[in-house]
Amino acid sequence: MHTITEPSRQLPIRAEVDILVVGGGPSGIIAAEAAAGKGLRVMLLESRGYLGGNLTIGLPILSFLNCNGKQNIRGLAQDFIDRLRRDGNASEHKPCKLHMSLTIINPEAAKDVAFEIMEEKGVEVLMYTFVADVITEGRRVKGVIIESKAGREAILAKTVIDCTGDGDVAQRAGVAMGKGDASGGMQPPTLMYNMRGVDIDKLRDAIVNHHDEFDMDRMPAGQFATGKFITVGLRNQIKKAQEAGIRIPVARTILITGLNPDEIWVNMTRVNGVDSTLPESYTRGEIEARKQISEINKYLKQFVPGFENAWLDRIAPFMGIRESRVMQGRYVLTAEDILANRRFARVVAVGSYPVDIHHANGGDCTMLFTSDDYDIPFECLLPKEYDNLLVAGRCASMNHEAMASTRVMSTCMALGEAAGRAARIAQETGVEPADVSIEALQRELRETGAYLGEQAL
Ligand SMILES: Cc1cc2nc3c(=O)[nH]c(=O)nc-3n(C[C@H](O)[C@H](O)[C@H](O)COP(=O)(O)OP(=O)(O)OC[C@H]3O[C@@H](n4cnc5c(N)ncnc54)[C@H](O)[C@@H]3O)c2cc1C
Repeated sequence: MHTITEPSRQLPIRAEVDILVVGGGPSGIIAAEAAAGKGLRVMLLESRGYLGGNLTIGLPILSFLNCNGKQNIRGLAQDFIDRLRRDGNASEHKPCKLHMSLTIINPEAAKDVAFEIMEEKGVEVLMYTFVADVITEGRRVKGVIIESKAGREAILAKTVIDCTGDGDVAQRAGVAMGKGDASGGMQPPTLMYNMRGVDIDKLRDAIVNHHDEFDMDRMPAGQFATGKFITVGLRNQIKKAQEAGIRIPVARTILITGLNPDEIWVNMTRVNGVDSTLPESYTRGEIEARKQISEINKYLKQFVPGFENAWLDRIAPFMGIRESRVMQGRYVLTAEDILANRRFARVVAVGSYPVDIHHANGGDCTMLFTSDDYDIPFECLLPKEYDNLLVAGRCASMNHEAMASTRVMSTCMALGEAAGRAARIAQETGVEPADVSIEALQRELRETGAYLGEQAL
């Protein structure tokens, strides 16, 4: 590769803050909220022109409830839902045999609620700002270098929390990162889109009363009789459509009811081999996914009851990334931990969502189910190389299989809450985040409503 030398230059320091959160998705919003207070200067950086990350692309939040129907994600994540529900912008947590539970939200309202919280808690939000590099000294991340229309600037911080999904801060700081399975295969991305004018009752009726023809993976027909739902199945219909020459990139029909009575979000585009950390690859994916939409809609209109008069309403603002870099931190959570319902004395969040791996090749998926909650220890948020950097959300320290469970937004929010509280407690007690008293962190999490399991270990 040809290179040039970038001349060194003095950068303006835009701000010096106590806690800097990078990335305003589900984990970052909650991390910033949890970090704020007690007079600390907390800043949230976001590259897009709104907050929410994948909360804004038409996805339901999965697994607020565990596999036994008990709510194991509570705390600030639940408060976020309560705020949405105030104006009818979130559904109940509906139990689901495949996804543990689904909570439908209004993506636009999620952006507004995120701003409302940041304003209320005094978090400074800076958008349209991309973190391009990191300033380090020994075992400390001293700050980040940002790029925006204002040029290249620095922000200094006592603690940095990486909630970028792709682990941009950690990776730039030289933290050990993993990517994909043993051969580098990653779960493929999907460009979500929304259909209106769907006759949902007709679709519901087909699934409930003609289950053999309109098959569902693992979910009993009765689950579709009332309320919100996600279809995962109709494999028979996809086969018929493929035989009729319609190109469908997936083996299963994934349709999600929206909050409007005629609305369905379609989770069926899929471009294998895309790496979101390479712009040329992400660009290819985005363009290819848009082409897939018209073929998928041919299928829906011809083979799925209720779509006969439906129309394409909107396409999500960006293609959603299921998997990219993950930190290899002080502890790397594994699928074995998850499937054994492993408990950790240093637990900071619990999960229960299945290991849900959309195959890197082909169009199918493998799901491995838990029989109870599993713990995520504080070490999954901590890099080995630094003491004042925390990493939360989908890029926290998990292997390929484990992140296929922890990646759901409810768990990402819980991880964000643990990271934010740890960052604040560290500053209040004059220690580095990595050295924070785990008892103090767990006590605060429990006292403020988070769930860390029934009994202390
Ligand atoms: C197609 C698809 C379907 C899914 N289905 C579901 C589902 O049904 N339910 C569910 O709960 N989960 C689902 N997931 C998983 C879930 O959406 C993600 O794992 C989760 O949103 C990750 O949260 P996060 O906060 O870590 O990252 P993100 O939601 O990705 O947010 C990261 C934020 O950081 C910002 N950012 C990134 N890099 C930088 C940078 N360098 N500088 C500044 N800002 C930056 C981004 O703009 C973004 O706002 C799905 C994911 C995909 C892609």
